[in-house]
Amino acid sequence: MQVSTAYLPHDVFVPSHRGDLPLPRVFIAPQRYIQGRGVLRDIGQHLSLMKAKRVALLMSERGGRTEGLALRDGLHAAGIESVASVFNGECSVEEIERHVEALANEGIDCVIAAGGGKCIDAGKGVAFRLGTPVVIAPTLASNDAPCSALSVIYSPQGVSTGVEFYPQSPAIVVVDTDIIAAAPERYLVAGMGDAMATWYEARVCLLNAAGMTTVGARPTIASVALGEACALTLFREGLAAAAAVAVSTVNESLEAIVEANTLLSGLGFESGGVAAAHGVAQSYTAIPKVHANYLHGEMVAMGTLAQLMMEARPDEAARVAEFFAAVGLPIHLGQLSLDVGDSSALDVVVEGTLAWPAIGNMPQPVTASLVRSAIVDAHGLGLSVAEKVGDAAYRRIHG
Ligand SMILES: [Zn+2]
Repeated sequence: MQVSTAYLPHDVFVPSHRGDLPLPRVFIAPQRYIQGRGVLRDIGQHLSLMKAKRVALLMSERGGRTEGLALRDGLHAAGIESVASVFNGECSVEEIERHVEALANEGIDCVIAAGGGKCIDAGKGVAFRLGTPVVIAPTLASNDAPCSALSVIYSPQGVSTGVEFYPQSPAIVVVDTDIIAAAPERYLVAGMGDAMATWYEARVCLLNAAGMTTVGARPTIASVALGEACALTLFREGLAAAAAVAVSTVNESLEAIVEANTLLSGLGFESGGVAAAHGVAQSYTAIPKVHANYLHGEMVAMGTLAQLMMEARPDEAARVAEFFAAVGLPIHLGQLSLDVGDSSALDVVVEGTLAWPAIGNMPQPVTASLVRSAIVDAHGLGLSVAEKVGDAAYRRIHG
């Protein structure tokens, strides 16, 4: 796991001259968050908050033909010029630098990144290098990328190589729920898997006096409360929101879950801290058949169950697994195309989890045997919950 050295938040918030002083509390957030039906068409009004005149539009080729049309119409109506830059699918340093080179002499005063998590993360890297604000328009509610001031960086071949932090959060995040509702159900459901981890990870980070957030600070009460509100919203509205997106309909449940997946989870993870759930999840990406076939939030769902087993909270794990099964998230290894007897795959996950930078946020020393037994116990729990609840939702989502 490499961290880009262009900007290191730890050096700003926890400079070495603080010596033995306790860590400060740091809360990080975008300047504006706007969510609702049709809000992308009003992008010109939103950009008037920052007086942008000429913007770069980072989108995939497909995005340019779909939501890109509404975006360009909105910009045109507001008298804002736009320069398209086609995102090629991977958030690599090479891809980011290609856009920076193409846009350097274009007189851009803002970058708009519209797309999935990787496009959004690339847009943040492009804006940072061009020295402009970034505006984010997510087209999926599957991940935590929209609100944060960091990007997950991949090699051009798609292997996760590290994280890049930025001194500025996105200036504006515009989430058009008509666009989110038009995407396949699986993306919203995966976002729920990612979002559910937020509360459990921020909680252990807060309770552990040595726990640290993504920027090396202490969690705020605010960020942990957002994580808790996120989990409560998921339990209450998740199933109804999945049913709504399955028929491409926006209702109050869908609005609630889009906010949980994007705003509550995004702020909660960045300022609340992550722990074992994301360590286990990122380690699954090292197994090619898992990496190729499953979404981040689906791996985080399995990681969350493993973390709760590490915390010796089997009843809470069972409650979460029942929710995951009801919305169609994986709850046992078979639902990630793995087998509990495949010890070399488990070795990879155990090793990756032990090397995860935030694993020290867990309340107890994390050993190889603890991780292995947590994964195996979570798998066993998942099997028994699947027997009870069934796997109809999982099978429907995964075809
Ligand atoms: Zn995540």
